[in-house]
Parts: sequence; C-alpha cells; structure tokens
Amino acid sequence: MKENNAKVAFGGYLEQRGIYQRSDYFNQLNKETERNIHIGIDLWIEANTAIFSPLEGTIHSFKNNTNYGDYGPTIVLKHKIEDFEFYTLYGHLSLASIENLKVGAEVKQGEQIANLGTAEVNGDYPPHLHFQIIKDIEDYKGDYPGVSNQIDLEFYKLNCPDPNLLLKLNK
Ligand SMILES: [Zn+2]
Repeated sequence: MKENNAKVAFGGYLEQRGIYQRSDYFNQLNKETERNIHIGIDLWIEANTAIFSPLEGTIHSFKNNTNYGDYGPTIVLKHKIEDFEFYTLYGHLSLASIENLKVGAEVKQGEQIANLGTAEVNGDYPPHLHFQIIKDIEDYKGDYPGVSNQIDLEFYKLNCPDPNLLLKLNK
C-alpha cells in the first residue's frame, strides 16, 4: 500500500489462504474440511477509520468474537429491499463500536456505524474491515462464518455473494 501511495487496499473474495492455519479455531487436519476460502471482502485501512453503512437498515446483532484469528468486535445489519431481506457483516471493529448499540435501531445509508479496530482487539490481524453479504443468517448473532471449506463452498457462494456487487469498487 505504501509503494502505491494507497489509502485502502481491498479484495480477497473466494481467495484461498494459509493464514487461518495459525488458529485451531479454523484449522482441521482434513484438506477438504479445512476452512481457508474467504467469503467476504477485506478492506485494509488504518485503525480507527470510520465505517459507514452502504445501505439503510437496522442493527440485527453485534458481538465481540474473541477467538484467536476471529473477527473481534462485529456488527451485523439487516436490510430490506422491496420484499428481499439480507444482511451485511462488519468484522474487526473497535471495541467502542459495539458499546452503545441497540438491536433493531435504524441505520441510514451513509451513516457512520463503527470505527476500525487495532490488532489488539481484532483477532490479531493488521487493521482491516471484513465485509460480507449474507442472505440467510440462520441463528447467528453478531457472527457468521467468513471462511469456508471446499465441501461447503457452493452453499456459501450462493448465500454470501460477491460483496463488490454492493460496494462497486473498481479493480
Ligand atoms: Zn476477511
């Protein structure tokens, strides 16, 4: 990022990664069940950067996911476009981001919903936002798998479409 004088780097949808092997939470010995395919998009930005909602919605849930290598503080928003409901997940936030939230509270398009967390709280990663679209969130609250194994990938590709459909970032 420094070489290109960039403020944000992004990508990673359906990227296969080795980094999850460092955490037992993700790692299993079987190659086909090892969760290492990323089903969100990552935006690498400085800690404390303000995060804005791309759409109007409501707070569905929030939680501090504290497993090593996990999201840390996380917010899930619920959206409804005509009769279609879906969710967006924001992971690796600051602790303060989830302090005064109320489930069901309305969020406007473009409203600040959070700040990006540091490595101390975000699961021990360089600061970045994990953003993911989720059609059916099942019973998850403030959490949803952000990586898939090979066996479940077809399901997750359908349930979690490319986040760039919404963000429309130029590659
Ligand atoms: Zn991610």
